[in-house]
Amino acid sequence: MKIGFIGLGNMGGPMAANLAKAGHEVIGFDLAAPAPEGVTMAASGAKAGSGVDAVITMLPNGKILRAVADEIIPAMDKGTLFVDCSTVDVDSARAVAQQAVDAGLAPVDAPVSGGTTGAVAGTLTFMAGGPDQAFARAEPLFDIMGQKAVHCGPSGNGQAAKICNNMILGATMIATCESFALADKLGLDRQKMFDVVSTSSGYSWTMNAYCPAPGVGPQSPADNDYKPGFASELMLKDLRLSQQAAEAVDADTPMGQRATELYAQFVESEDGLGSDFSAMLPRFEKRGR
Ligand code: NAD
Repeated sequence: MKIGFIGLGNMGGPMAANLAKAGHEVIGFDLAAPAPEGVTMAASGAKAGSGVDAVITMLPNGKILRAVADEIIPAMDKGTLFVDCSTVDVDSARAVAQQAVDAGLAPVDAPVSGGTTGAVAGTLTFMAGGPDQAFARAEPLFDIMGQKAVHCGPSGNGQAAKICNNMILGATMIATCESFALADKLGLDRQKMFDVVSTSSGYSWTMNAYCPAPGVGPQSPADNDYKPGFASELMLKDLRLSQQAAEAVDADTPMGQRATELYAQFVESEDGLGSDFSAMLPRFEKRGR
């Protein structure tokens, strides 16, 4: 396929390189990032988006996605597949998908989980929303860039799945970290705490697979001085998107709301910026009630 790829940053760069490595012709555009291996650069987003079979975008937020969509949709040939892999608000995802359908394009919103290591290794998980036919056309590309793609329903549902997952993740990480900090103060050894919780009803991905306590459980960013991993500011971005969506549909999400407040405090008023989101454990450790 001939593929236009717009947004070649930490995630988009390696994803585009993997498509090129698999034999696709990839035409890239980014305001700042250099050309990934095997990718030919175009002079504008519109140029990368015209005369291709598919366009993939991997951009910072919904506002930028809407601006890029306004620029490229008029330049895209009818029938072109338009896959947005950015994490954005559900409203922007649905608005851009409608704009694409009106222009005769086939839209898929397909945010990812798996981080930069998954982007490089081609092991991302895609959670996708959009018409069946558009998803079916995008699947072979998901297979190259990732290990799993779930079709979650109509346009916007990929973003909905992503923010619901990450709302659980943020709240669970905080619960795991505050429990370790309490266990410390109660004189409970961290390894014993892990041995019990990881095989009891308090188990979770954050405890069992991504343990925030250094030297306990499998290797995780805690064992690398809390270098991300998944940075706290990215967790905050996703939590804010979850609360924006909850407000829009009048959903009561008190744990998500509190997790958003705590990560905002951690990133904006404390030393959380640039640390992995599991660095909540040393944060709690230093604090008293
Ligand atoms: P990034 O900042 O490294 O990359 C974004 C790129 O978009 C930059 O290179 C920037 O120059 C480019 N860009 C901005 N405006 C543009 C425009 N108008 N036209 C063309 N290019 C433009 O960010 P990233 O880490 O690659 O993340 C991209 C998306 O993936 C975000 O929505 C993020 O939330 C999501 N995401 C990131 C991770 C992660 O671990 N980094 C994990 C899952 C999802």
